Amino acid sequence: MTVTVATLGFPRIGPRRELKSALELHWSGASSEADLLEAAAGLRTAAWARQRSLGADWLPSNDFSLYDHVLDTSVMLGAIPARYAAADGQADLATYFAMARGTTTDDDNGCGHAHASVTACEMTKWFDTNYHYMVPELAAGRKLALNRLKVVDEYREAKAQGFETRPVLLGPVTWLSLAKGSDVDPFDYLDEVLGLYAAILGHLAQAGAEWVQIDEPVLVLDLDDRQRKALTRSYAKLARCGVKLMLATYFGGLGNNLGFATALPVHGLHVDLVRAPEQLDAVLKAAPASLLLSLGVIDGRNVWRADLDALLDRLAPIAAARDVILAPSCSLLHTPVDLLLEKKLDPAVTQWLAFAVQKIEELSILKRALNDGRASVAAEIAASSRAVETRRTSPLIHDAAVAARIAAVSPAMRDRLSDHQVRRTAQATVIDLPPYPTTTIGSFPQTAEVRRARAEHNRGNLDDATYHAFLREETERAIRWQEQVGLDVLVHGEFERNDMVQYFGEQLSGFAFTVGGWVQSYGSRCVRPPILYGDVSRPQPMTVDWWRYAQGLTRRPMKGMLTGPVTILNWSFVRDDQPREASCRQIALAIRDEVLDLEAAGAQAIQIDEAALREGLPLRRRDWQRYLDWAVDCFRLSAAGVGDATQIHTHMCYSEFNDILPSIAAMDTDVISIETARSQMELLEGFARYRYPSAIGPGVYDIHAPRVPSEEEMVTLMRLAGRHLRPEQLWVNPDCGLKTRQWDEVKPAIAAMVAAARTLRADLATGR
Ligand code: GLN
Ligand code: ZN
Repeated sequence: MTVTVATLGFPRIGPRRELKSALELHWSGASSEADLLEAAAGLRTAAWARQRSLGADWLPSNDFSLYDHVLDTSVMLGAIPARYAAADGQADLATYFAMARGTTTDDDNGCGHAHASVTACEMTKWFDTNYHYMVPELAAGRKLALNRLKVVDEYREAKAQGFETRPVLLGPVTWLSLAKGSDVDPFDYLDEVLGLYAAILGHLAQAGAEWVQIDEPVLVLDLDDRQRKALTRSYAKLARCGVKLMLATYFGGLGNNLGFATALPVHGLHVDLVRAPEQLDAVLKAAPASLLLSLGVIDGRNVWRADLDALLDRLAPIAAARDVILAPSCSLLHTPVDLLLEKKLDPAVTQWLAFAVQKIEELSILKRALNDGRASVAAEIAASSRAVETRRTSPLIHDAAVAARIAAVSPAMRDRLSDHQVRRTAQATVIDLPPYPTTTIGSFPQTAEVRRARAEHNRGNLDDATYHAFLREETERAIRWQEQVGLDVLVHGEFERNDMVQYFGEQLSGFAFTVGGWVQSYGSRCVRPPILYGDVSRPQPMTVDWWRYAQGLTRRPMKGMLTGPVTILNWSFVRDDQPREASCRQIALAIRDEVLDLEAAGAQAIQIDEAALREGLPLRRRDWQRYLDWAVDCFRLSAAGVGDATQIHTHMCYSEFNDILPSIAAMDTDVISIETARSQMELLEGFARYRYPSAIGPGVYDIHAPRVPSEEEMVTLMRLAGRHLRPEQLWVNPDCGLKTRQWDEVKPAIAAMVAAARTLRADLATGR
């Protein structure tokens, strides 16, 4: 039987973020459309050539995108909202970018929001990844129609260069499941969409494609009846369009959808055996011999080298019995491109890693071992086993002191001394706050000067002393302004921080940072997630000096400002040699050390941001509670060491709380600030219904838009909030950090916010 290798998709950004440069040059007006398209074509050719030379037998096409593959699908189907298109279904490149970015854009705040102007499509996270897609929009009365067929063009383009590819399409049911409809249920479009997909597959068949990869990651979710029916209907139709379909599922196991998926009339099925290794036997049993299986055995979501020897033990009996394809668990879009470009990482850590290029090499070693015998790749397998062995035992990873601390964690360490009522009283004796206290979320504008100074300091052009003096000046200026504008609880402004996770990761043991390990977040924006490789500890205080400096400048309370353990975990590449929760607990202990040091230094209020707690929710509902339990547990472990009089704040950058309210309450913070400005305080209803006991700062200033809100607006929002919550529960604050804004927006907005709080206090005094 033969084993072949496929990749479901390759990183689009290029090994050195060439796509980012080409896009930004074009957006700035410095390059033409033709220049951009030429750069993009060059990246595609290089990716095909690279994958082939690494040993991939099945090359993907149409995995490339100028911005986002979901947006590409929407445009292909002509799902172009009326505000962009003159005629139904037509979109040129400018329209495409208008959908992606609006007409004016703005930077990201680190919490995954869309920050484009009002006219861009909404953006949200792709399943449980940190990749963002553009949400398809369907409106009643609008007809769909085929647009330019990028998928066919790119298939032909590859073929003309001698690359036979398996085009990749996002499946119709996943696309519809991601879509939102105004006055229409997206699934009402099913038949229309299927008609278009059938036509596209027909065009691909005509162009010579034998196989098409059709991605339906919804198959790993809890499906409702309608989705199942839609899948059945879709594949009954699409399986008869002249091409063979490889139905790709990833990001989890098929679970209760397994029988259903293997019964669809497709020719091949890809399954994720990294997230769900346990499904292998069931898949083999359920899959008829005629179904070509693609086994996702190499982790497409993480950066670790595989244990090839162990994999071969599992794969050998399967490969003896049937033809199989070996593949990464999902598209390699979610991994950095090439480890060999990484020159600064500690070689001891590097030996344990594999980026996209190395992952294809691993697949090709597995293939050769299975087709030609292990002896043909004995050296490669031995190298893999050595890496596995050193990782299992390396003192860089395994720290006995951390293990001992974890073993000594007691339940009491997660509990505050007293309940929130008692704490509230204790806190009132040390922090004297008016009703409706005002504060901000932490960061102030990261201006061009701040970013320039940081870059110059990183490059070694600005010495430590000069850089720190500059940061101290920025901090002092921010504090003076906060005093002057009349804020009650101050922040130091986070000028010294590059990123809310990286700043902490760089100071903790157990984290490594790449120089070129970029992964696409959305469009041209890429991130370099920290690599959490070993046991975590905190060699020394991380924020105390800055806090002390800041508090030394003012008599008002200065919040200590930390990133929480769950957020640090969720925004990093994490260890696969222990459960996520074990890594999270170690981070929690390190943050706990910091919390206690801040308290000892005199901090009366400490904020522990958990911007990414919600997005870590597992894809399947039945796995939610377990995650929430350990996530909340880790947060509590980080926070609960303080005395009653120390006020613990947290911040969360989103507004969907209803399903997780009990867990939010279980975090047992004294104050939580949340996003609400855009949802008219509706979500507070949930907090009220749940009788949420502590204080809440519902964001009254939408910091994701350049708009400066008025005092009246904010008063109105707070009065709406007052319908749900008692006045003594309410704080007044923006809905996220202000780092992406400009000072000339922040200053009037915060002044108006403070004025709004004063109006509310006056209301209270007059009993309004
Ligand atoms: N303290 C951080 C800030 O203000 C929080 C950012 C976030 O939650 N994304 O920037
Ligand atoms: Zn936020």
